[in-house]
Amino acid sequence: MKGNQYAVIGLGRFGSSLAKELVKLGYEVLGVDINEEAVEEMSQTLTHVVVADSTDEEVLKSLGVRNFDCAVVAIGDDIQSSILTAILLKDLGVKSVVAKALSDLHGKVLEKIGVDRIIFPERDMGIRVAHQLVSPNLLDYIDLSEKYTIAELAVPKRLTGCSLKEIDPRAKYGCSVVAINKKKGVIIAPTAVDTVEERDVMVVIGTREQIDQFEHAVIR
Ligand code: ATP
Repeated sequence: MKGNQYAVIGLGRFGSSLAKELVKLGYEVLGVDINEEAVEEMSQTLTHVVVADSTDEEVLKSLGVRNFDCAVVAIGDDIQSSILTAILLKDLGVKSVVAKALSDLHGKVLEKIGVDRIIFPERDMGIRVAHQLVSPNLLDYIDLSEKYTIAELAVPKRLTGCSLKEIDPRAKYGCSVVAINKKKGVIIAPTAVDTVEERDVMVVIGTREQIDQFEHAVIR
């Protein structure tokens, strides 16, 4: 087992998927839900599970939640419970409180309470899927800031055998290839003579516009 301990409060679709993945990654996870069935379903998978109402301060205290490195509030629909739980976790001094928000307003309230990280799974997944639909070779991306992005682009067949010097994304589009993920391993900081093949994945850094232009002109 790895060091950090996580508490996941709300074992709906989002919470249970998150909790399962944390266990897979080797962490101890306490799952809490007010619904007995939801808890029962996760009882074989998580380290500990408890049927409890997370809006009850005494319950949270008795579970020792303050000793956890991170608590995730995965309650969505019931905004009142989400907010109350987040306030209690912050008050109890949990090091890092992460909460799921269903709307911008819900997110704003969580921010005011001092929640350390707010996630908008439905909104963000919608945006991500839209990007992937219009750019089928865009496998994934991380926004580094408002302006800069790192994107994973699948190399199309017609680029097989081309060197980075020939493709030349920096001179032509302003974005740089920082790694090439090949079947036999990853080339970090590839040079101009490194070549790509179909099914390789280029990891590209640049502004969104630069990567869009590169993807439209060369990858698609
Ligand atoms: P998902 O989309 O992840 O399935 P959701 O956004 O629809 O979830 P909810 O259904 O409101 O969110 O809540 C998710 C889980 O949180 C449910 O299993 C629910 O029983 C649990 N939950 C709601 N309120 C509380 C509470 N006060 N204490 C503990 N668990 C709660």
